Amino acid sequence: MNTKPINIVWLKRDLRLQDHEPLHSAAQAGIPYLIIYLFEPNIIEYPDTNLRHLQFVYHSIKSLNNRLKNYNRCVDVFYGEATEIFTFLSKNYSIQQLFSYQESGTKTTWKRDKQIKQFCDNSNIVWKESQRDGIIRGLKNRDTWNKRWHATMHAPVIKNSYSVSELNTLEHSYVVPSELVSKLENYPKHYQPAGEENAWRYLKSFTQKRGFNYHRHISKPTESRIGCSRLSPYFAWGNISIKQVFQFVGTHPNGTANNRAFSGMLTRLHWHCHFIQKFEVACIYETLCINKGYELLAHKKNETYIKAWRTGQTGYPLIDACMRAVEQTGWINFRMRAMVVSFLTLNLDQDWRDGVYHLARQFLDYEPGIHYPQFQMQAGTTGINTVRLYNPVKNSEEHDAKGIFIKKWIPELENVPERYIHEPWTMSAMEQTFCGVTIGVDYPLPIVDLKASAKMARDKIWGHKKHPAVNAEKNSILATHVNKRR
Ligand SMILES: Cc1cc2nc3c(=O)[nH]c(=O)nc-3n(C[C@H](O)[C@H](O)[C@H](O)COP(=O)(O)OP(=O)(O)OC[C@H]3O[C@@H](n4cnc5c(N)ncnc54)[C@H](O)[C@@H]3O)c2cc1C
Repeated sequence: MNTKPINIVWLKRDLRLQDHEPLHSAAQAGIPYLIIYLFEPNIIEYPDTNLRHLQFVYHSIKSLNNRLKNYNRCVDVFYGEATEIFTFLSKNYSIQQLFSYQESGTKTTWKRDKQIKQFCDNSNIVWKESQRDGIIRGLKNRDTWNKRWHATMHAPVIKNSYSVSELNTLEHSYVVPSELVSKLENYPKHYQPAGEENAWRYLKSFTQKRGFNYHRHISKPTESRIGCSRLSPYFAWGNISIKQVFQFVGTHPNGTANNRAFSGMLTRLHWHCHFIQKFEVACIYETLCINKGYELLAHKKNETYIKAWRTGQTGYPLIDACMRAVEQTGWINFRMRAMVVSFLTLNLDQDWRDGVYHLARQFLDYEPGIHYPQFQMQAGTTGINTVRLYNPVKNSEEHDAKGIFIKKWIPELENVPERYIHEPWTMSAMEQTFCGVTIGVDYPLPIVDLKASAKMARDKIWGHKKHPAVNAEKNSILATHVNKRR
């Protein structure tokens, strides 16, 4: 038993060494501290989690450890439920303070955090949770939120420094199982590389050149892959903070010549926190309609539709290309995300809950606070936003005119001429023979009629917007999530 008093820094979605308040507080406290990360079976098994997320975390930690070894430090990784691990640690150390960021997570992480709070209270451990980015805990409305968000973004970036640790490594049995380690090690190259250094590499390349056409390319499925910042997984797992990026982009010398592009990107950093703030206030949006009035709207579950959507077999080339691309790479742009959700929930008339975890697992940048409110917004269950129906054929013609993205992800359509690529079912039998594809055999016929399904969706969703139960909810949603002084 090591009775020396220590502090603990618990890393969660904040896997970086700079602009890190909990690490700074631990360094200032003047007693030794451990840095820990927990792979928690309850969270790993939750339906929103995918191996790709765990791999990103694992490689982010490896990169931290590479730099921490200069200070005889490392992130101690444990495999087990949080209460078990903290119980074990408190038997081995006299823990004074626990430092971490606040987590605006799903029901599982909230539940776990409540248990840890109880544990800390019972064990006389002070748990200091720092504010994450511009998200403020305990807000009842948005009256002061914008002002406070800007104050946070303009506050100095924390410059963390590290002393050499004198703590010995703690032997324990909570090691990550070897089968899982080998899966974590084997991180496919088609996902973005993890870690703080890569976050900065992406940020710098965006401001040096990649981002100059941001506003022109943001909605194009191919061009956006280069023209967008692609910082989302680094934000989601905390390899970089919103403030670091806000200040770097906001003061970058290329900003004047690229004002439209850079300010467009900065606006989205505000949206990032705006959405997470909603979820921070109501994590119930993971499973319940934001506007409870939409719980009254029935959907007939159709497993064939859901499977076709998930696997990219709906017969609408841009939808299918997106679903296959996200499965392979973990990323598609905002418009494509909105379009696939609109297709599932409006054209196919499926409950948003039948797709929300699937996309959470696909997105390498899965951030609960953005994901659930955005998904619901596109599904039309907020009752306060205009419901947008994205026509996949029109979007394909406008944003993938030559079908480059489609052909990359749907090799069955590789030889289809440009004029048919958006609606391959309109090819004659002879045309199909010429390009070596039989629609309905090699690639599906459209799963639903676009016009008829769109009309049905409009009548259903827009009709329901007038329902007294939807109206009754509107005011409280506006009062909680919308800044009245805008
Ligand atoms: C159904 C649906 C689910 C989504 N789920 C997620 C998610 O799990 N994680 C996630 O990070 N984003 C999510 N988004 C928002 C958006 O699509 C991604 O943030 C964006 O595509 C990430 O690419 P980027 O980093 O190149 O973004 P950029 O365009 O370069 O923007 C910079 C940053 O701003 C933020 N941002 C950009 N657009 C939005 C937006 N519309 N709403 C909120 N924040 C935004 C992101 O943090 C992003 O990294 C979702 C959108 C939809 C429609």
